[in-house]
Amino acid sequence: KSEFRGTFSFFEAEMDARAQSRRKIEIDLRDAIQNEGLRPYYQPLVDLCSGRITGFEALVRWPHPERGMISPAEFIPVAEETGLINALGGLMLHRACMDAAQWPDDVRVAVNLSPLQFRTGNLLSVVTDALRQSGLPARRLELEITETLLLEKSSQVLATLHALRALGVRMSMDDFGTGYSSLSYLRSFPFDKIKIDQSFVRDLDANRDAQAIVRSIVSLGVGLGVTITAEGVETEAELSCLRAEGCHEGQGFLFSRARPNAEVISLLRAQRGAVASAALVA
Ligand code: C2E
Ligand code: MG
Ligand code: MG
Ligand code: MG
Repeated sequence: KSEFRGTFSFFEAEMDARAQSRRKIEIDLRDAIQNEGLRPYYQPLVDLCSGRITGFEALVRWPHPERGMISPAEFIPVAEETGLINALGGLMLHRACMDAAQWPDDVRVAVNLSPLQFRTGNLLSVVTDALRQSGLPARRLELEITETLLLEKSSQVLATLHALRALGVRMSMDDFGTGYSSLSYLRSFPFDKIKIDQSFVRDLDANRDAQAIVRSIVSLGVGLGVTITAEGVETEAELSCLRAEGCHEGQGFLFSRARPNAEVISLLRAQRGAVASAALVA
């Protein structure tokens, strides 16, 4: 009996430590949101045909004063549980639109949305305000949502999606293939882009099953008139496979990690240089 007690209190202590660490993240996150402690980093989206950068995905970064960079995988769930995701999401949208408005006119910015941002009801005005205040044309903004959003298929969510699209904003389905019924969601709403989850891109060159899956998603995209982007491209071998399958766009460490806005312009310049020198050789 006493042994059981011992195990039980150990378990309790573990739970308690976890709850405390979450609580600490919540307090620090609230502070970071209020004091500009969060910022977007930008990772290039590359056209696999021309090699040109077509846009950048904004990824939230949190340089924590004591812990260094904390991964969004750790704090986005806390933000969602505590409702802080609305402030965080609004902040990212605003910063990303302000930054992108200073980039060349043919470069887009993609911003991730949490399903919870659709439930509070004012997402449409948050997006409209970010566009108006930054002066960024709607066609240069892309919004990434995951399949979980559509799980409920509520008419309110669909109405918001349609209203966003009516503004001229492009809608992307993120992490495609990881959810329960990705295909049925494509029938509920006309997305502009599908992002193949990185789990299908990993070791693509050595995995025939993954190749078959990527091939079908690409042909699905062609059939629907939707751009297909591969996430998590890390090697030349994965890249040449994606090219062979006709995938339109890629994103991954092979091209670049996410970088601060100050480095976006130099990435674009380096790309122009590469395109120019390739043209000289040709
Ligand atoms: P995501 O939207 O699917 O973003 C892609 C993630 O893959 C990013 O992780 C990116 O750094 C990582 N990645 C890119 N290329 C590679 C690669 O070649 N190899 C590997 N192994 N990983 C790669 P990150 O920045 O840690 O973000 C994780 C997730 O957190 C994002 O997944 C997104 O769901 C969420 N997230 C990030 N920023 C925001 C935000 O501002 N709002 C919301 N709601 N969610 C965000
Ligand atoms: Mg994303
Ligand atoms: Mg993704
Ligand atoms: Mg992801």
